[in-house]
Amino acid sequence: MCSSIINLLNKLICIPSISPNDLGCQKIISKKLLNMGFSIKNFDIKNTKNMWAEIGSKKNGKTLNFLGHTDVVPSGNLYNWKFDPFTPTIYKGKLFGRGSSDMKGSISSFIIAIKKFLYNFRNRMKGRITVLLTSDEEGNAKNGIKKVVEKLIKKKEKIDYCIVGEPTSEKFLGDTIKNGRRGSLHLQLFLKGKGGHIAYYNSSENLIHKSSLFINDLIKLDWKEKFINKNEITNVQVSKIFSEDTVENMISENLFIRINFRFSYKISVSYIKRCVKNLLNYHKINCNMNWNISAKPFITKNGKLLDSVVDSILYFNKNKPNISMSGGTSDGRFINKMKSQIIELGLLNNTIHKPNEFVKISDLKKLSKIYEKIIEKLLL
Ligand SMILES: [Zn+2]
Repeated sequence: MCSSIINLLNKLICIPSISPNDLGCQKIISKKLLNMGFSIKNFDIKNTKNMWAEIGSKKNGKTLNFLGHTDVVPSGNLYNWKFDPFTPTIYKGKLFGRGSSDMKGSISSFIIAIKKFLYNFRNRMKGRITVLLTSDEEGNAKNGIKKVVEKLIKKKEKIDYCIVGEPTSEKFLGDTIKNGRRGSLHLQLFLKGKGGHIAYYNSSENLIHKSSLFINDLIKLDWKEKFINKNEITNVQVSKIFSEDTVENMISENLFIRINFRFSYKISVSYIKRCVKNLLNYHKINCNMNWNISAKPFITKNGKLLDSVVDSILYFNKNKPNISMSGGTSDGRFINKMKSQIIELGLLNNTIHKPNEFVKISDLKKLSKIYEKIIEKLLL
């Protein structure tokens, strides 16, 4: 079994599918799935390749979907790599290559898990297995899962359970899973004040002084999120403060501030907006605001999928996994529109997007076994 995971992964790593390019990865995977009896639909949108594969029937049970992406981030400076990033290399039990952990390794593991499950239980399966892949996860994610989900909803498709293969493990395989992600809200503030000579500050309005008091209050705001875990709470980060470049003895009349809110499912966007406006009024700051929501929060608090994932991990590990919502957002945010239960479980994330990305061979094998167990629990 392990050799077939590695064979598939080797083929995928050889392809430099830098986002949003797929360059044939999905063809290799669809060939494997066709051999297992899947039917395949391709949704190519501009330069993005998307693929939906299904086997079984949604009439006699639930639909379990595996979600993944075939694109990778660029390798960065080649001098920092021990081996060529697109020549898969096994060294001391580890397989090196761009995308090995994020997430061609997880894809290879779940494809082989599905193959094994069908080999053992094809006739006893209740429901349906689907595989959804995109080549636009690492980039701007405009023509990937977002668009495919719109099409699937129009076709009245459904996904009951969705497993996202993103690398969620931290120290060892299966120690952490994600049951959702926080939302992401961007704010740009364009402040206008009164410029002037630094020595005659009384007749000017120093926006840097004013806004620093505002920011100080903003980052200390209590969002009143009751009964919530530490890694789920709302966090504010100011990422840029920029004032026009004037001469040394001038107070600038303009200031630009860029802020991001990673917000929990406990609060709403309108609540955040209200709090910020109140604070700006309190500090008597006049400004234009530009809000942009890039991701809504989503969470799977409980249910059969979460139970099955935790139990399957417990079958191989001593302890239950940490259930977390940390990190950036994922394509799970789009699947959430289908009202699915969503859990993310994948390889270790310690080398992703870095030089010398690798995956332990033993982890590939173990992850595949966990995926297989999950399918058994949900579809038998
Ligand atoms: Zn990824």
